[in-house]
Amino acid sequence: MAPPHHNPGRPIVLEFPQETITAFSISALATYVLVPELNCAFDMGECPMDAVPLDRVFISHAHGDHTRCMLRHEALRRLMGMAPATYYVPEQTLEGFQGLSRAWKQLENVSDRNYEPPQLHPLRPGDVVWLHRQLAAKAFQVNHSLPSLGYTIFDVRKKLKEEFHGRSGRELAQLRKEGVAFEDEQWLPRLTYIGDSTIDTLYRERHVGESRILLIELTYLMEDERNIARKRGHTHLEDLLTFLKECPGVLNNQHIILKHFSMRYDRRLILHTLKSRLPKPFLERVHILV
Ligand SMILES: [Zn+2]
Ligand SMILES: [Zn+2]
Repeated sequence: MAPPHHNPGRPIVLEFPQETITAFSISALATYVLVPELNCAFDMGECPMDAVPLDRVFISHAHGDHTRCMLRHEALRRLMGMAPATYYVPEQTLEGFQGLSRAWKQLENVSDRNYEPPQLHPLRPGDVVWLHRQLAAKAFQVNHSLPSLGYTIFDVRKKLKEEFHGRSGRELAQLRKEGVAFEDEQWLPRLTYIGDSTIDTLYRERHVGESRILLIELTYLMEDERNIARKRGHTHLEDLLTFLKECPGVLNNQHIILKHFSMRYDRRLILHTLKSRLPKPFLERVHILV
């Protein structure tokens, strides 16, 4: 049985200068990450009321502990008279989620005439979604036992090219009229979310190490769980330690949030194990989501 403090209704709140992350993530129970400053959520294994106002939900993969309450989020918004949110899902899962929604409506006796399908938006690795003019999300491939995507949120800034420094506003307006590209676009990686994943994702998608905040999974911690970690497509503590040794310069994040621990462990065991095994300089940047 899960230790009593693993309660999906009781998220952890992490306060950063620019983001307040409200999240819960224990393997098989539920995972959700709410970032109100970005007006979005990642995964929806549970749907606390704080999640309801968020307009975009990025789903990593179809396992129930990450998606079970996506349709609840949609239904609550409808009930409260809010505009529909958008749900971004790996393209291979689109039909499945559409079918799930229809089955649910049938069970609830909603007629076809009254049925409004959820706004599901399929994504592939490399696809970009604009949250607004200066904020974009980019999907990338994640290794797990099902089709899975990770997401990086970028602040997108325009910067004057060096050769145009010192020009007046009027000159720049004229250049704009003439179609001269006098600005460079800067994509500053702000936050990366990886749902369930083997360590292979970090070896391949090295750009994730440049996000200010990085969320990664660390499901298994015990020596005798290495096989099960591999079989189920998860990360084991030994995998992470090996990665840190083999690729010391990759994870340059200011904050690294470790999540999705097996529900067999209690909080004390997780904290004790990580504090005794993770290298000091790494540990200083780590937040443990329990
Ligand atoms: Zn999971
Ligand atoms: Zn999973």
